[in-house]
Amino acid sequence: MKPQVGVLSVQGAFAEHVRAFREAGADPFEVRSTGDLARPLDALVLPGGESTVQGRLLKETGLFGPLAERIAAGLPVFATCAGLILLAERLEGDTTVWFGALPVTVRRNAYGRQLGSFAAKGRVGPDEDVPQTFIRAPSIVSVGNGVEVLSSFEGVPTGVRRRNVTALAWHPELTQDLRVFRRFLESMQVSAKRR
Ligand code: GLN
Repeated sequence: MKPQVGVLSVQGAFAEHVRAFREAGADPFEVRSTGDLARPLDALVLPGGESTVQGRLLKETGLFGPLAERIAAGLPVFATCAGLILLAERLEGDTTVWFGALPVTVRRNAYGRQLGSFAAKGRVGPDEDVPQTFIRAPSIVSVGNGVEVLSSFEGVPTGVRRRNVTALAWHPELTQDLRVFRRFLESMQVSAKRR
């Protein structure tokens, strides 16, 4: 059976994640309301977009509480950009905390207006030369215990993993390179076998 991947679809780049996860071999579906959580859910995707809007809509739809519980219970999560902001334990210069499930400090819009959007290529985990698209991206200014750095740009971490949570500051769903999605799906299968 293909992994059932729920893609948070209240705002932002959810359609691109649905496409990418489908091409990578999963069975993705949109999560818009609590009713969508009645389906089997093997993993959750938190897409890019505007974290403040997404956070507000998560609360308004009632999705926030149930998702926070499942993330804390070990549901595999794949997040990009605004999703990373929603997961961070700390936001620089801001007291807002959403899920707080990842012990990192994140700086929003870290690359300034001039460099708001740009592309780079680099190593992501074991993969070389992966295209990385940044759009008003956050950076990860510090990482806590047990956080593995998967990718970085100019020496600053831009992708991390800890236990069930993978979070990237950039947008793999906007490229044709599916390696990062496949690796996430593989890592889910490995941890499911261990359980
Ligand atoms: N700048 C956005 C935020 O702060 C994130 C940008 C993105 O997700 N592409 O939420």
